[in-house]
Amino acid sequence: MNEEQKNAIRVLRRIKAVLDKLMNDPSTRVEIRLNELYDHLRRDPEISDLLPNPIRMSQFLRAQHQEGVMKQVIPNYRVDTSTHEMYQWYFFRERKDVDSVEQLEPELKDAPLEMTVEFQDDVPTFKQASHGMTLYIDMDNVLVDFTSSFDRVDPEILSAHNKNRDDIPGIFDLMDPMPNAIGSYKALSLKYNTFILSTAPWNNPSAWRSKVEWVHKHLGDVAYKRLILTHRKDLLHGHYLIDDRPNNGAVEFRGEWIQFGSSKYPDWDSVLAYLLVGGAGSN
Ligand SMILES: [Mg+2]
Repeated sequence: MNEEQKNAIRVLRRIKAVLDKLMNDPSTRVEIRLNELYDHLRRDPEISDLLPNPIRMSQFLRAQHQEGVMKQVIPNYRVDTSTHEMYQWYFFRERKDVDSVEQLEPELKDAPLEMTVEFQDDVPTFKQASHGMTLYIDMDNVLVDFTSSFDRVDPEILSAHNKNRDDIPGIFDLMDPMPNAIGSYKALSLKYNTFILSTAPWNNPSAWRSKVEWVHKHLGDVAYKRLILTHRKDLLHGHYLIDDRPNNGAVEFRGEWIQFGSSKYPDWDSVLAYLLVGGAGSN
């Protein structure tokens, strides 16, 4: 470890001490943002010399976050990286400091207090039994029931986006899986080297984030690091593509395009019949 890294850790430890003090005050909210923490930090002359404003502090934290150092010193934070220019930082109370379950957010009430959730980047827990053929599966109207969100959106917003519903902020968070899609994905991933191949709207950055979150939520480990977002599906090498539309390169895909929703493949049962039982997938 070089001097620069050692100094960075010293700064992080100083920040952590201020954060701990703040979080031990019962009047502090369970979660605070960077600006609020910075209001307290800037009273430390050494910190305010080094990091004279919240933007500099955000830049410093970003570097430490990307190096993986920050989590080691300050485990009780999360970061929203969806705005590239300015990451959003949130610091939350460590569970040992929580006096009562009621102080936790409602969805945490049933969780064991000693539990810590860690996502380690290099630990895939689902083994794919691939025989070497590669299968791509589209999201919208193949894995994801796009229309299932419409009832859950403010009707005025819905009609204002009549022609571009995928631009409605947050709309992907509201979508259910298509019938049998999850079980089918899991079954296919045992036979094929399976990836999700989807396009996210260029003008709705929140959709890019929502798509990976949807995959985390509905598929989890079985789709670990298997999401590809692109406007050029034709550039991918593979044997099969299950997609409902010809758009974004699907029709130029050089393997076999299985058109989901067509008369030949109207639903997941018909796709499974072909890919698992029928003639497909034999080397
Ligand atoms: Mg689609």
